[in-house]
Amino acid sequence: MTNQSLQRLLEGNRRFVENKSQLDGSEKRRREIATGQHPFATILGCVDSRVPPELIFDQGLGELFVIRTAGEVLDQAVLGSIEFGVEELKIPLLMVLGHKNCGAIKATREILHSHAKAEADIDYLVQELTLAVEIGDEEQENPVDRAVRAQVCHVVERLRQAPILKTAVEHGELKIVGAYYDLDSGLVEMVIE
Ligand SMILES: [Zn+2]
Repeated sequence: MTNQSLQRLLEGNRRFVENKSQLDGSEKRRREIATGQHPFATILGCVDSRVPPELIFDQGLGELFVIRTAGEVLDQAVLGSIEFGVEELKIPLLMVLGHKNCGAIKATREILHSHAKAEADIDYLVQELTLAVEIGDEEQENPVDRAVRAQVCHVVERLRQAPILKTAVEHGELKIVGAYYDLDSGLVEMVIE
């Protein structure tokens, strides 16, 4: 089930890239699922307006359980929502989705380089993204891109240690993966499986 779900996502991305989207937002579909939802994947993605999971994976109503925060940063509400999806809805796949040119990563990098402090709650995002930016800066080439991938791996590793999720993975009921979305090509590639 977990591998089938990943396959389904990647096939949807292929349709999106090839301009063959089959998104079903019909009244018939809406009525079919009005009494219950059975999404096959949770996507934790970035708030960036260019990365809407339903569009880039070509999935319609009732198919994806989507949570979006700047730079895929975790907090208690995000973790609780993901755990709810696994515990109550038995969603077999969880994907952390980073993307090219992530503004949250770039802004964090600028703040850290200028030794500034972000205002209000934005500072929480900066703190949570600092590790990834530091890893990205270890090499001169493509530091932002490296930081995006480092953040995806970091979040995947944290999710694999979260209580309900860890047990579900051990029982083969859940797979947690990380991926990267290319804004130019529209393609999603796997970062960590
Ligand atoms: Zn972003």
